[in-house]
Amino acid sequence: MKTAIISDIHSNIEAFEAVLAQIGKDKVYCLGDIVGYGPNPNECVELVREKACVVIAGNHDFGSVGQIDISGFTKEAQFVCRFTHDRLALDNFSYLKELFETASPQDNVTLVHGSLKSPLFQYILGQKAARSSFKLLKTPLCFFGHTHLPIIYKLKGRKLTVEGLVEDENLFLDKEARYLINPGSIGQPRDGDPRASYLIFDNKNYSVCLKRVAYNVSKTQKTMLKANLPQPLISRLTVGQ
Ligand code: ZN
Repeated sequence: MKTAIISDIHSNIEAFEAVLAQIGKDKVYCLGDIVGYGPNPNECVELVREKACVVIAGNHDFGSVGQIDISGFTKEAQFVCRFTHDRLALDNFSYLKELFETASPQDNVTLVHGSLKSPLFQYILGQKAARSSFKLLKTPLCFFGHTHLPIIYKLKGRKLTVEGLVEDENLFLDKEARYLINPGSIGQPRDGDPRASYLIFDNKNYSVCLKRVAYNVSKTQKTMLKANLPQPLISRLTVGQ
């Protein structure tokens, strides 16, 4: 059975719809940050509720519904949290509020937004943070988001290696190793490629495959402009940074 691992949709409905069209009937796990930054929070939450069988909370989801303090967020992120808060329909608001911070939907898989040490806040951006999550990891695999950067950390014995993911290339996982795997971001990629990013996990072949999907960036940007969202958030979608 194949599972699509998606993360950081960030209220970008054009990117999300383009990804879902490619995923088709595969099962979907969502690693949080459904909302924040983008202009279409309700549409994205509704589609996640319809399509994803397992969903966990991101900092922007909780930030937008008052579950966490957002004073540490950037000015732009705070602005969009308030924008999202004011627009979310009541049932979507309650849905986000009730999300769990981690999940283990299969025996060998853990899902978290940031890291296992701090599920909502910590960025796994290097070996030190990766090691602290490996210490807490109880399954062979952990899928995480938050950094918006597709990457794999592999721990075999005491050796930690960092691997990139190549688009459309199956990477066969080592059953003797453990992994922290990030699928990148759907709605606000930050690796210099503006296309939406997600991952296919094949539990049978024990492999992962990175997917990139082009979407109508200028349409999203026009909606953001109309909604008076901060210009830097609009511009960054063009370059994927
Ligand atoms: Zn995010």
